Amino acid sequence: MKVFHTHKHALHDPQFFLVRGERRPAAEQPQRGHILLQAARAGGHEVLEAGDQGLGPIADVHTPEYLDYLQVAHREWSRLPGASAEVIPNVHPGRRPAHYPRGIVGRAGWHAADTASPIGPGTWEAVYAAAQVAVCASDAVLAGVREAYALCRPPGHHAYADMAGGFCFLNNTAIAARRLLARHARVAVLDVDVHHGNGTQAIFHGSREVFTVSLHADPGEFYPFFWGYAHERGEGAGEGFNLNLPLPVGSGDEPWLAAGETAIERIGRFAPRVLVVALGLDASESDPLQGLRITTRGFARMAGRIAALGLPTVLVQEGGYLGPELGENLAAFLAAFEQGRTACR
Ligand SMILES: [Zn+2]
Repeated sequence: MKVFHTHKHALHDPQFFLVRGERRPAAEQPQRGHILLQAARAGGHEVLEAGDQGLGPIADVHTPEYLDYLQVAHREWSRLPGASAEVIPNVHPGRRPAHYPRGIVGRAGWHAADTASPIGPGTWEAVYAAAQVAVCASDAVLAGVREAYALCRPPGHHAYADMAGGFCFLNNTAIAARRLLARHARVAVLDVDVHHGNGTQAIFHGSREVFTVSLHADPGEFYPFFWGYAHERGEGAGEGFNLNLPLPVGSGDEPWLAAGETAIERIGRFAPRVLVVALGLDASESDPLQGLRITTRGFARMAGRIAALGLPTVLVQEGGYLGPELGENLAAFLAAFEQGRTACR
């Protein structure tokens, strides 16, 4: 399989992570990228450094003021007296009508859902490069490759058009889907990350061209808490084109794979021309975030079922943190995906 990556991901090296009021080491570390790349190489895949297709495909998803903010945030924040080493917002507009502020402290709060996406000196360069990885993998599929894996780090599926959150800044999955939409009338997104893909859902909420499906741990008890419920079905022209399949926290392979069957059946009915998989590996039983209990074999079985859809597919890396099976789970997923392709030919 063609694997796209960027060595620039390591420029984003977040330090700050607040868990239940306690400061902890950031879970989303450069080491993740190294482990995933090593697993892809060991699996014998064709590893390619992503090129640069410019800001256009990113601007097709994200707002101009947000993209401007991401580029200047660290520089402007650093000029504040007593500023922390990373941009960490602590005041937000909340759920009331609000005005966009001029100053960097207000802009930081406007453009962030939480404190889990700190901006350091290399963040913009890293997230821009990660988005290019998704663009290049999509372009490979548009050029006729059956499947490509985008090793994106940091992840993207919690990022809205104008808001970072949950370790995410640019929505790589949405950028891939939008890129594919230029040539294919119907695109499906299947998000198997342990967390609901709230940013992706919001970006395509009013769209009937992109069918977004997410299986994840119940947001009543798990991040992102406020979105990801079964009654969220899209709105306006997009009503009926979003499907959420929440599972009780701690669920194992069988309910997860059963939800996967439902997702795959609904995607089949939508009849997309191309598929994007938001490939979070944090549903693993050994992931430190502990939302679901999926085994390596469970990931492989899911991969085989998705591959059997027979659709041109872009796999976009989302979550998956520093547990003992991170590399193994990616290797198993990619291998089973390729095997599933062979079986359905
Ligand atoms: Zn996740």
